[in-house]
Amino acid sequence: MQRFSLHTHTSGFDGENTEEEMLQQAVSFGWTHLGFSNHFIVHPHIKDAPMYQYALKGGYHNIYSSSFDEAIAKFAPHYQKIDDLRRQTGLKILKGMEVDFFAAPEWRKGFEHTLNILKPDYLIGSAHFIEYKDTLYNSHDVKNASVIEQNMLLHRYWQNERAAASSGLFDIMAHLDLMKKVGLGLEEKWLEEEQKTVTAIRKSGVKVELNTSYFKFGNEPYPSPRIMRLLAAAKVPVLLSDDAHAAAQLGGHFAQTAELAHTCGLSLQNEPRYPATALFFQTSQKRY
Ligand SMILES: [Zn+2]
Ligand SMILES: [Zn+2]
Repeated sequence: MQRFSLHTHTSGFDGENTEEEMLQQAVSFGWTHLGFSNHFIVHPHIKDAPMYQYALKGGYHNIYSSSFDEAIAKFAPHYQKIDDLRRQTGLKILKGMEVDFFAAPEWRKGFEHTLNILKPDYLIGSAHFIEYKDTLYNSHDVKNASVIEQNMLLHRYWQNERAAASSGLFDIMAHLDLMKKVGLGLEEKWLEEEQKTVTAIRKSGVKVELNTSYFKFGNEPYPSPRIMRLLAAAKVPVLLSDDAHAAAQLGGHFAQTAELAHTCGLSLQNEPRYPATALFFQTSQKRY
């Protein structure tokens, strides 16, 4: 079984446990690597988004920043802590980010500036928001929209996934069919968008995670078996992610997801002849 996770969240962002507590759990499992990938969500209007008020109440608003400097200031002490922990343990600890991609050229400029300052080891691309007419919709806002708007927003979601995959910025794409969290995008008619997205992913060389966190809501990972079969046909490399927001969630449902992936024709990157992290170091080192 895969003995690492690259998609995890800690306290100070929206996770429950500290870096040390997550690390302790990974060591107890005998893992080889642990990657931290807290949310990097920067948009000038993010604090006007409908969900921001919920985030304030829930106490996880810290993951949203209106400027790159604001986000850099949050990540700098977290990365410093990882550097310190690296000196104390044999397990390899990686500095990552789960990044919300926005297509605007100013966003890219700010993000590249961020990379030069923070120098992360790897980047996970994601889209928790759909931008439309100056409003940022999260999955729950889409759920509450009219059916016509839902369809339009979902098309925009897939468009943004393709733009993120093709941007050349990311090592791994997160939870491809995130909108199923609110029951959207399940119908067969979305297969065309999914296929176009898998094609863009294959062309860009980005890897795809099989994210086990959806087991909290349903009984399958992100993405669905339907998308897994497309990934298998396109020979896209995949890896397991727990998206752990607590130490107890590390490695959750890995065995079940690996089994499902195999039935869809996917072979996981962690197999000895195809070591994920080595590949991934090559790609991330190339960038700097
Ligand atoms: Zn996410
Ligand atoms: Zn996450």
